[in-house]
Amino acid sequence: MKLKMTIPSTTTTSYVSAEEVKKKSDGISDKGYFFGEIDWDDATDPIVVTVKCTTYIDKTLTGKQKKDVEAHEHQHFADFITLAGQMKKDIEGALKGGKDPQIQDRVNWLNYDKCVKSAAFHRQTAGYSAEMCFKPSSDRPK
Ligand SMILES: [Zn+2]
Repeated sequence: MKLKMTIPSTTTTSYVSAEEVKKKSDGISDKGYFFGEIDWDDATDPIVVTVKCTTYIDKTLTGKQKKDVEAHEHQHFADFITLAGQMKKDIEGALKGGKDPQIQDRVNWLNYDKCVKSAAFHRQTAGYSAEMCFKPSSDRPK
């Protein structure tokens, strides 16, 4: 089995209304929100893993505030891409070793790690964290 997984080098940025940002972020923010998601199909050979990145920014922001929000969301993108890159290596390693790639478990753990990173970043920058991160019930795949 082979893996087909492309890590995007940029996120697609959408400038939308504050209301729309709030909707996309489930009420977490009305200024900016990074949405990173992984889809996969492991019933095929190659296994196809799709990494989707979208950043939503309030279109009414200007100047320094806009730059700050963009920089903040870019950090979330960078963290997500780092985790996705590591997951890609891990899947390739598992496949090479003839092991079950455990895509579902890996994605669950990636989402958990993303949440933990995000919470740490928010504590660092905003002084508090908006997220509660729940550990997957599966063991972390090796
Ligand atoms: Zn944030």
